[in-house]
Amino acid sequence: MKTKRQRKVLVIDDSQPNLILLKAHLTSMGLVALLADNWRDGIGLAAEQKPDVILLDVMMPEVDGFETCRRLKTDVRTSSIPVIFVSARDASEDKIGGLKLGAVDYVTKPFNRAELQARIGIVLQMTELQERLLLLANTDELTGMSNRRHFFEILEREVLGAKIRSGSIAVMMFDVDHFKNFNDTYGHLAGDRILQQVGKILNENIYPLDMAARYGGEEFVVVMPGMPAEIAEQRAQKLCSIIDKYGWEISGQSISITCSVGVAVFSGTDSTDSYELIKRADEALYAAKRRGRNCVVSYDQLNPDEQIMAHQDEDFQELQTKISSLAVQIKEQALGIISAFTKAIAAKGPYLVSHVENVKTYAIAIAKQMEVSDLLVQQLKTAAALHDLGKIIIPNNILNKMTSLTDEERKIIQRHPISSAEILAPIGLFSQEIVIIRHHHENYDGTGYPNGLVGKNIPIGSRILSVANTFDSLTSAKPWMTETKSADDALGELVSLAGSQFDPEVVDAFRRTYAEYHGAWPLSQKPEYAVR
Ligand code: GH3
Ligand code: MG
Ligand code: MG
Repeated sequence: MKTKRQRKVLVIDDSQPNLILLKAHLTSMGLVALLADNWRDGIGLAAEQKPDVILLDVMMPEVDGFETCRRLKTDVRTSSIPVIFVSARDASEDKIGGLKLGAVDYVTKPFNRAELQARIGIVLQMTELQERLLLLANTDELTGMSNRRHFFEILEREVLGAKIRSGSIAVMMFDVDHFKNFNDTYGHLAGDRILQQVGKILNENIYPLDMAARYGGEEFVVVMPGMPAEIAEQRAQKLCSIIDKYGWEISGQSISITCSVGVAVFSGTDSTDSYELIKRADEALYAAKRRGRNCVVSYDQLNPDEQIMAHQDEDFQELQTKISSLAVQIKEQALGIISAFTKAIAAKGPYLVSHVENVKTYAIAIAKQMEVSDLLVQQLKTAAALHDLGKIIIPNNILNKMTSLTDEERKIIQRHPISSAEILAPIGLFSQEIVIIRHHHENYDGTGYPNGLVGKNIPIGSRILSVANTFDSLTSAKPWMTETKSADDALGELVSLAGSQFDPEVVDAFRRTYAEYHGAWPLSQKPEYAVR
């Protein structure tokens, strides 16, 4: 198992006593403290050491903390590192200004040690969640190896690097021979075990800088950066032969498992992109099947007939179609994984589980009533399912507090749309949904958060989600609420807030939808959550 990486926190502060004090706090938290007493060293250390959090002083000579933050956020090497301002300036404009620059938090000096530690803890917890999510999103469930999404990400990066360095990259595409027959004879579970073993063999026999991934079904890919064409084919032959010679058996009976392999090599000087490279490896693989299977064919050696056949063959066409529907499949897969995470919210408050489901139902009904595009309906479905993800990192005692919230606690709760968006951002598949989630607490009259957007500047998905969210909140029992509203009263409240909190058109669509579902709505008000 991987050992946990020690987290690093960079402190940028021109005051030596402050640096010493913060270093002592951070060390006592088991964190590595990196120190810089000026903006220039700070930015340099941030780019070089990639700390997990930056604590940034505001008042510094020459370039102040705000400008330093702006520079950190516009540099690709440092833009994703969370920044917490630590400053003696406690005016709201400073805090808002700091947060608008992209900082995740703002702590005022003299700071309370426990509070500072709690805030750093929250940010680190979020980083950890992001990392776990990314790992899940990049891993193939059956074999535990990288999945196609991760493979493409790495390949894109390597192709770009090879172009810059005029280097080369080899891609090998493996396809298990006659695997359908195998499944038909021995069953799917036995087939799964074979796939796991093929993956293991590939992983164990490639070099450290190479990467093996499951491309899909019974197909695997290996990327070998820096690999010239002559050697690539030999290496593929070697892997193909290791698979062939492995002592495969089922229930004590020996069986034969072989692969066909297609190899394509990109040399930094040609104009190929990663998609073209895969296509070439696939054409070579197709030729390997034609030549009798259990063999390796390089794209460079395809004879003209084989090239024409590859293009004409129906299977090839089908593959092209499959590739184009890929984005949709990957997205669904990632959503499944993330939905598992949202179940973790159940531990935070049981009402949140039904809340997510209810909001999804209401939001889709409103969207259909408004006759928005199918694409937006799909995006809303995902956004509704994930809108409260950020609540995972809110401490339980704040999230379920029975008495009224302090300003500080309210601010922590109000960060959840941003946290949800930040948790999802590294996956890179939900850009539209993230926008909807980020703005689902904006108000039509500009009084909402996090950005105070006004009217139609608020994305339509967010305006719909906002109404759906509020209707469920008003009608669902929660530990701290003494009463819930009836559906009619809740509707009345939404109508009374049309034009201030809500988009009047969305409220109107909700009213018409509600009329259709009258009797069935509200979906919640389950007695088991009722206040005792
Ligand atoms: P060829 O030698 O031409 O590649 O023939 P094939 O039978 O291997 O190819 P085909 O594409 O016709 O069939 C692939 C089979 O792989 C069909 C599908 O049931 C099986 N398969 C795909 N994914 C999985 C999986 O996750 N587990 C198992 N057990 N089988 C899978
Ligand atoms: Mg296949
Ligand atoms: Mg096959």
